[in-house]
Amino acid sequence: MSFESLIKNTGAYRIVAGEKKRDALSHAYLIVCADGERLKDYLKVFAKLIMCENGDDDFCGECRACTLIDRERYTDCSFYPAEGNKILVADVDDLVSQTYIKPLENKRRLFCLCGVENMNAAAQNKLLKTLEEPPQNVVILMGATQSFSLLPTIVSRVKRIEIPPFGEKALFEGLKEECPDGERLKNAIEVGGGKIGATIKAYGGDSAQEVGKLAEKVLYEMTSSKSILYYASKIDKDNISLFITALYRKTGEMLIECEKNGTGEINGFKTGALIAIEDMLCEKQRLLNFNANVQMTIDGMLFGILEEKYKWQKL
Ligand SMILES: [Zn+2]
Repeated sequence: MSFESLIKNTGAYRIVAGEKKRDALSHAYLIVCADGERLKDYLKVFAKLIMCENGDDDFCGECRACTLIDRERYTDCSFYPAEGNKILVADVDDLVSQTYIKPLENKRRLFCLCGVENMNAAAQNKLLKTLEEPPQNVVILMGATQSFSLLPTIVSRVKRIEIPPFGEKALFEGLKEECPDGERLKNAIEVGGGKIGATIKAYGGDSAQEVGKLAEKVLYEMTSSKSILYYASKIDKDNISLFITALYRKTGEMLIECEKNGTGEINGFKTGALIAIEDMLCEKQRLLNFNANVQMTIDGMLFGILEEKYKWQKL
């Protein structure tokens, strides 16, 4: 979890962690961070910190809150915008009505708004009322790449915390697991402007896109155990973690699709199968960290995907 370790080392994280420890969380935070590409991932780290009930100034990464927040499926934590990349008045209306509902399992309810710098004035004004009189046990976590376009009245009612660009050394240390080619990582850091998202993108170049496409093919086109060998041969063994991350991201997207289309199924995968596959991917990554055999891991992973897919179809 190198991305998380970078964020955990920021002053911003320590501020919120300290407030959690003193049981003095603010009712609203504005995290300002230029890393637009990964802004939601930043928010998720803070969301876990705020919602995890294990650890008084940290999060465990393993409890129900932590794992479900990663998938944006925790009932007491909502993410906005629901669709697209712009928070609309309808999103704020939904948020306002949700704030009156008591938390279902956590002691607080959290609302994460990603990209608030793109909100129009009408949406901001609607949100302002909730910020002025926040219901009890509600925390609003906003993420923005800059705060100039926000109404001063909004900014004055939230705790504004900035995450400055990361230094080269911190980025290198934080990303060397995810980006193992040191020379390439150094070049990527040079063009990444201190942002995690841009650095990873520069490191991956086109190859990251290729890996994403292959992950999609595995999930959409691999239908029988006979084809496992073919797909296994396409996977870059030196970059297996990148491939697992791509698969994980794709299954996450499919889970969201399942929920949207209302059938609980997408392309032959039931919701339960997708969740089981996510768990399996985490376990494979963990074993790889302990030097598991790469080829066996790849074969086992592809087989596991098919197994879960068909097992859940029969249920
Ligand atoms: Zn936790």
